[in-house]
Amino acid sequence: MILFEEMGLDSSILKAVKDLGFENPTPIQEKVIPRILADKKDLIARAQTGTGKTAAFGLPLIQMADGKSSDIQSLILCPTRELCIQISSDLKKYSAYHKGFRVIPVYGGANIETQIKSLKKGGQIVVGTPGRVLDLIKRKILKIHKIDWLVLDEADEMLNMGFKDDLDDILSGTPKSKQTLLFSATIPKEILRISNDYMTSPDEIMIGNKNVGADNVKHEYYVSHAKYRYEVLKRIADMNTDIYGIVFCRTRRETKEVADKFMNDGYNADALHGDLSQSQRDYVMGRFRNRTIQMLVATDVAARGLDVNDLTHVINYNLPDDLEVYIHRSGRTGRAGKSGISISILHTRETNKIKSLQKLAGKSFEKKMIPGGKEICKKQLFNLVDRVEKVELNSAQIDEFLPEINSKLSWLSREDLIKHFVSVEFNRFLSYYKNAPDLNVESYSSYDRNDRSDGRGGRSDRRDGRSDGRDGRGEGNRDGYQGKDKDIRKSSQGFTRFFINLGKVNDLNAARLMGLINDQTRTRDIEVGKIEIMRKFSFFEIEKDYEAEVLSAFEKPTEFEGARVSVELSKPEPDRPPLEKKHKKSSGSYSKDKSSYKKDKGNYKKGKNSYSKDKGARKKGKKKSHRGQ
Ligand code: AMP
Repeated sequence: MILFEEMGLDSSILKAVKDLGFENPTPIQEKVIPRILADKKDLIARAQTGTGKTAAFGLPLIQMADGKSSDIQSLILCPTRELCIQISSDLKKYSAYHKGFRVIPVYGGANIETQIKSLKKGGQIVVGTPGRVLDLIKRKILKIHKIDWLVLDEADEMLNMGFKDDLDDILSGTPKSKQTLLFSATIPKEILRISNDYMTSPDEIMIGNKNVGADNVKHEYYVSHAKYRYEVLKRIADMNTDIYGIVFCRTRRETKEVADKFMNDGYNADALHGDLSQSQRDYVMGRFRNRTIQMLVATDVAARGLDVNDLTHVINYNLPDDLEVYIHRSGRTGRAGKSGISISILHTRETNKIKSLQKLAGKSFEKKMIPGGKEICKKQLFNLVDRVEKVELNSAQIDEFLPEINSKLSWLSREDLIKHFVSVEFNRFLSYYKNAPDLNVESYSSYDRNDRSDGRGGRSDRRDGRSDGRDGRGEGNRDGYQGKDKDIRKSSQGFTRFFINLGKVNDLNAARLMGLINDQTRTRDIEVGKIEIMRKFSFFEIEKDYEAEVLSAFEKPTEFEGARVSVELSKPEPDRPPLEKKHKKSSGSYSKDKSSYKKDKGNYKKGKNSYSKDKGARKKGKKKSHRGQ
C-alpha cells in the first residue's frame, strides 16, 4: 500500500488530510492521485459513492492550482445540489492550508445573484450542477474556455437525470488542452459516447474490478403478489424493530404513496423525492441523519445527496429498471465496516431478475419467507419485553405512588399483571395480525423453480384465496408465456395486452412506459407483464383485473414527449378496426417493425367479420386515434 506521504502531495495538503483523520489512502486515491499529479492524461474511473473519490481528484487539483491567479482553473460537474455542497465543503477542508484558495459552489434552486457575486470575486475551482453551470456560462459570468481540469463526478447519474444536452453544451465550450477526469459508478453506452467525443484516449481505472456489491451486505428477497407489496414492506419493518434504512421506490408518486401510508400506519418514516422544496428536503434529510426518522422512502435520485454510513437495511420496494442501480442502492448499507441487508420485494414474475442481480453483485441472494402474523407478533412481543426489562427506572418519582398502585392492582396475580401491561402496548398489534394471511407466493421463473431454498412445493397453494386464474398459471403456462413471441398479440394468461402509439422514436423505453402507466392510473401495484418497445409503437401487458382502469386512465388527454398518447386493447375487438389499417393511416412507414407487425395481420383478419358489422364504433375509434397523433 502506498502512503499519502509517498504520492507526491505537498505538506500543506498532507497536513489537511491528517487533520481530517485520513490515515491511509483508499484504493481509488492510491490509483488516481499519483496519476493526476504525473501527467494530463484523461481518466475514466469506475467508482461508487463512499470510495473516497472526492479526495482522489480534489487533493491533486488543489495542489496543482495556481493560488495566485483567481481565474477558474477546474470545473467539477456533479448531479445534485447536495453533492455539489458536499464536494465544495470537502475541497474547502482539503485546501485549509492553501491561503486565499477559493472553491465556488453553483447549483440550481439557490439565488443565482449570490453565485454571480461569488464568481465575480474569482476562485480556483467551481463545483456545479450542469443546469446552473450552463446558465452561468450563457450569462457570460462563468468562463470555462481556459480551464485546465474538468471533473465529471457521478457521470452516470448526471445522464440519468437528463443532463445529457447540458453536458454536451458545457463540454463543447471547454478547451482541448484540459485534462478530463470522469468518475462514474457504472459505464453505460452514453458515458462511452462522452468519452469518445470529449476525451483523448483516457486511462481506465476500475475500483474493485467490477461494480460489485460490498462484501458485508447480505442480499435477501421476498416474493408476493404485486398488490401485497406494501403489506410485505410493513411486515419487514415489523420484524426489524431497530431498522434504520432507505425504502427505494421507482417513481415520485410511488414514493409519496408508500410514505403516506407508512406514516398513517404509525411507522417512523418520511418521504424524500424531487417534488419537495429544497428546505423540505433538507429538513427530512436532517431528521433521518439524526435518526428521528427510522425509514426514509425515497427515489434513487433524491437519495443521491444523502450520505449516511450506518444504514442497517436497504429495501427495494420495487427493483430499479437498470439493475446496476441495485448495486448503488445496496452499497448504501454495509459501509464503514458494518454489515447491512439489502432486501428486495418481488412479484412473481420478477424472480428471474435474481440471477442477473447475483451475477452483477457477485453474491448469492437468499429467498426469505414473508413472516406470518404469529412470527411478527412474537418478535414484537419480545421486543417489548426486552424494553420493559431494560428500561431505566425513575424509582424516586414512582416510589411515591407505588403503595396506591399496589393496592389498585393487588387483585391481579403476577402472571395476569404481566399480561395486562403487555396488552396495553400490544393489543393493537395482535388484532392487526390476527388471521393475517400468508403473503408468500410461488414464482414462475425457471430460476426460482430450480434454486428454491425454502423446500416448498412447485405450485402456489393459493392460500391468499385468489380466484382470478392468475395463480393458476402453472409451469407449463409460464413456458408458454416465454414462447409467446410466436404470436405477439397473444397475452399471457391473466394479463391483457395493450397497444400504445409510442415507440423508440418517442424515446420510450420500458422504464418510461411503466412510469407513464403509473402516472396515468394513479393506482399502485398494478402488475405489468411483458413490454415490447417497437420503433413507432409498443405493447404492454397489464393484469386483467385492471384492464378497464388502464383504458379509462388513458382516456384522459395525455402527452408524452410532445406526442398525444393513445392506448388501446391489442387483442382483436369487434369494435375496433384492424390494427394494420389503423397504423398505416395514422403514421408513416412501419418498415423497420415489419416482422412483428406482420404477425398481427392474420389474427386481425380473423376478426374482420365482426368488425365490419360495427362500423360506427370503428369510426369513433379512428377519431380518437387521430386526436392522439
Ligand atoms: P467520497 O467517496 O469522496 O464521498 O468519500 C466518502 C467518505 O470517506 C467521506 O466522508 C470522506 O471524508 C471519507 N474519506 C475519504 N478519503 C478517506 C481516507 N483516505 N480515509 C478515511 N476516510 C476517507
